[in-house]
Amino acid sequence: MDDPPATRQPAPGGLALVQDFVNSTELPGGWDELADVALTASWLRAHGFELTPDEAQRRRIVETRENLRTVLGVNSGQPLPEAAAARLGKLLDAASVHPAVGAEGVRLASPSLGADGFLAAILTALLESSITGTFRRLKVCRSDSCQWTFYDSSKNGCGAWCSMRVCGARAKAKAYRERHRAGAESAVPGATAPA
Ligand SMILES: [Zn+2]
Repeated sequence: MDDPPATRQPAPGGLALVQDFVNSTELPGGWDELADVALTASWLRAHGFELTPDEAQRRRIVETRENLRTVLGVNSGQPLPEAAAARLGKLLDAASVHPAVGAEGVRLASPSLGADGFLAAILTALLESSITGTFRRLKVCRSDSCQWTFYDSSKNGCGAWCSMRVCGARAKAKAYRERHRAGAESAVPGATAPA
């Protein structure tokens, strides 16, 4: 069983930035906090990155977000989307990172606080979470009308909806309605049954 929404926690550590990033737009066709350069600059500033990107950089950031969301489908049991995975790798390859040795060990850092620095932070968070195993719990809500990215903190790691009460219940109600409608239609006299 899925966990109730009250137990849905934001992703831990740097993965929270990844989660916020993918959730910077509401799908399908809702608001987009990265819709233009000014919006993107204020979103980046709110997340600690001081730079107004140009339009090319904004597009690269948005393309990264979209490919990232597609790739996150693997965490819900879908096969790896090869094209999106390859493209994401290419986009992240543009981020310049270098090893920074400190008291806690070695981490990857970027000299840039701009668009490159942001992509470097995303890359680092993805790398860390892949090693610690938290990456596979960052999931895209199964509901097509939601697609919200959530962190699955359930014990068995089998959560499929961002919020069971909203999305899970909605998905179940829809399935029920469809079954019910199919039943009602087949009961109409003279109705043509689908081949
Ligand atoms: Zn949802």
